[in-house]
Amino acid sequence: MAIHVSTQFDGGRIEVIEAQHAARIRLKIAKDSASDFCQWFYCRVDGIAQQETVLSLENAGQSSYPKWEGYHVLASYDRETWFRIPTEFMDGMLIARHTPTMNAVYYAYFTPYSHERHLDLLAQAQCSEFSTLLNLGASAQGRTMDCLKITEAHPHTTQHKKIVWVIARQHPGETMAEWCAEGLVTRLLDPDDALAKVLREQAIFYIIPNMNPDGAFLGNLRTNACGANLNREWMAPSLESSPEVYWVRQKIYETGVDCFLDLHGDEQLPYVFLAGCEGVPKYSEKQKQRAQIFKETLRAVNPDFQTEFGYSVDAPGEANLTLATDYIGEHFGCLAYTLEMPFKDNANLPDPDTGWSAERSLLLGASLLHPISAVL
Ligand SMILES: [Zn+2]
Repeated sequence: MAIHVSTQFDGGRIEVIEAQHAARIRLKIAKDSASDFCQWFYCRVDGIAQQETVLSLENAGQSSYPKWEGYHVLASYDRETWFRIPTEFMDGMLIARHTPTMNAVYYAYFTPYSHERHLDLLAQAQCSEFSTLLNLGASAQGRTMDCLKITEAHPHTTQHKKIVWVIARQHPGETMAEWCAEGLVTRLLDPDDALAKVLREQAIFYIIPNMNPDGAFLGNLRTNACGANLNREWMAPSLESSPEVYWVRQKIYETGVDCFLDLHGDEQLPYVFLAGCEGVPKYSEKQKQRAQIFKETLRAVNPDFQTEFGYSVDAPGEANLTLATDYIGEHFGCLAYTLEMPFKDNANLPDPDTGWSAERSLLLGASLLHPISAVL
């Protein structure tokens, strides 16, 4: 049976150099559809059952984030269960080895989150009495900019409700961000969860599970269909090149915001960590205190989160206000955090079979209720 490598499905992306023999499948990571970013891959390989298969991603050393040490490729037969396979980074190439038990195997940079699953999440959520599905506008290719508004429709108190915004997957290849958003949404809609109930009473949540639906479908790492990095568009989004940010930012101005979270994946660091808006010109003592409470609470409830490793903190006034977290922190004076999850693993609690995973991202999302509650 001939070997065949295909990517003609949602999120699929790779280039084939040579695929005659299982022991020598030579591949290249493809660039994003309209920019030079290059990191995400997702393909199906047919015709390799019981064969010692070697996949070489030959340009890995020239990818956008070329520090691949400690990273292991994900594989799946049933597209539900994903597991890591032995992978090494050598001579600028990422080399993964696998002897599949079945003929067709999916390989990906991280567990994919498909557009169909995205639509299922929204459809199921809108059937909850606590949730309304809003379409804020159209993406560059005309996909809906989906926003879930979640709150207690018939609250027991008349207190003024706080506004919580959570956005995920500005960088579409960071699929763990949408898994995390799903975990948050699912718990928030649980009628039996007391913490969820209290939060629905206290607050109105606006959740964007996927800020970049076009890029996700195209199999991009970092940009939308126009080649824009959405997390550099918050100062001046345009309907021509970054309509996704344009519509969401407009809605945030309409609702206001008391707590803002932006969910991401980090290609290099093997940790879950937060990045705040300490460098914005108007950073206040109140923001600092809330950020501290958020961080300490998350650390107490989910040991996958840690505070030792992360990005260096911007010096006062040095923040890049084109980033969502800095832009929102500056203009609304609220708690604003970027939450980063690894593509590799959490080096403090490693799991060689799964590494960092969709399941752990879901659980991290569910545990976000605690720090949000603490700061409200
Ligand atoms: Zn990101």
